[in-house]
Amino acid sequence: MSKIVCTIGPKTCDIESIERLAETGMDIVRLNMSHGTHEWHGKVIETVREVNSRGRFNLGLLLDTKGPEVRSGDLKAPIQVKRGQKFTWTVRKDFDSFDDFTVDVSYDDFVKDVHVGDTLLVDGGMCSFLVTEVTDKDVLSECVDGGTLTSRRHLNVRGKSASLPAITEKDWEDIKFGMENNVDFYALSFVKHEDDVRTLISYLRENNSLALVLSKIESADAVKRLRPILEASDGAMVARGDLGAEIPVEDVPLVQDEIVSINRSIRKPTIVATHMLESMITYPSPTRAEVADITEAVRQGADATMLSGETANGSYPYKALSVMATVAESVVSQDSALSENDLFSPVLRMNESKAQDARLDLAFGASTMASRLNVAAIVVFTRVGTYAKLVSCTRPRCPVVAFTPDADLVRRLTLYWGVKPFELSFSEDPEETISRAVKFLIEKGLTSTGDTLVIASDMLVTDKSKVNTIQVRTVH
Ligand code: ATP
Ligand code: MG
Ligand code: MG
Repeated sequence: MSKIVCTIGPKTCDIESIERLAETGMDIVRLNMSHGTHEWHGKVIETVREVNSRGRFNLGLLLDTKGPEVRSGDLKAPIQVKRGQKFTWTVRKDFDSFDDFTVDVSYDDFVKDVHVGDTLLVDGGMCSFLVTEVTDKDVLSECVDGGTLTSRRHLNVRGKSASLPAITEKDWEDIKFGMENNVDFYALSFVKHEDDVRTLISYLRENNSLALVLSKIESADAVKRLRPILEASDGAMVARGDLGAEIPVEDVPLVQDEIVSINRSIRKPTIVATHMLESMITYPSPTRAEVADITEAVRQGADATMLSGETANGSYPYKALSVMATVAESVVSQDSALSENDLFSPVLRMNESKAQDARLDLAFGASTMASRLNVAAIVVFTRVGTYAKLVSCTRPRCPVVAFTPDADLVRRLTLYWGVKPFELSFSEDPEETISRAVKFLIEKGLTSTGDTLVIASDMLVTDKSKVNTIQVRTVH
């Protein structure tokens, strides 16, 4: 019922790999614009479209912006650094003059943002350095925790955000690339303020894109403005890597819980990301702590969990995905893993939102009926997706099958908890639409004769008036 986002990288970018990931449980493909060229990403997008056109899958496409991040440069070979080693970070580009312990940094104002006494974290703390001197082009430091530095690693100053603009020039280039390729989701990196999100959403809508904008919560600034940022966004991603560098690590699980909980109450989707099966980049089985982490995210009611290096660059991409899918599935299928007021708590959630759209009450009604009648699925007919999203946010115990005539909406619905979206042309005659849908479900093996279905819609009437209905039907 919860969804899985997989980052595509060099290990998984060909058609066989993408199809295999889809078979193993991937719902959404993530393209990370911090790596790879437009040409490379364009090829991946083409490949995903090819997989979708074969008819078995409808993978969504998520473009993740690089954002105002600071990274170390490309290296010919990894550098081993030991405690006490003097190390230089530079904005100079005269690479030939670099010694073995000098590396360039992607952002020219790095030297202005960093001060003597600051702690520099590489990839959120894989290794760290104490800043000892800053000149107009160089940051001199001494290694505190040693490790291996590889190409294009994240650099954070503990407790600080870089003073870069929220959406950089590169991001705008990448967003335009995304629009040309009709991607379904944008993950906006290092959001600091709700205005950043609004800027991107208005830009997209002005250019006739209905793609969803997900705010990545990964900076100390974003945590301070959590609610306004989440309210301005179409959804969120808990990007725990950088978040854990900017705020104390022990606060990260609490912030994750808060984000999922706020988003559930305002009915917006959340992706929990980073390090979920990190050890499986190298090993064929997960640590028990990683399994507990996935369980926790699913139990909180997050719409999706995500894999990064595990599928982009790891040695066991399919095993990692299969572990994630199996663990997530077991949480939802074992009643003992859930207390009633945990994941499936329609009534509790409904009390939070009074007297709004009647469709919300219908969605809760459909969900309650579905669980009492033990139905095979809730079937929703939707043109803009509202009804499907409302039913999803009540977290019913059966799949929410959403039919829509809009192919783009099908892919946008891939993110929502429990929703299985399909394209279907609607007939003038509502009975005809329903029988087409049921026939389709039988063919797909999602229902069979004798099953009960709950059907929710606001358009199942022959004249043009809108009537909200919930129907209970037996499949013949
Ligand atoms: P972010 O903070 O945006 O997640 P990241 O560097 O952690 O950045 P991920 O997308 O999490 O990147 O992927 C993990 C690793 O997989 C990357 O550090 C990189 O080494 C590799 N990777 C991901 N995407 C690509 C790509 N398109 N091309 C090459 N390598 C990639
Ligand atoms: Mg990033
Ligand atoms: Mg990452």
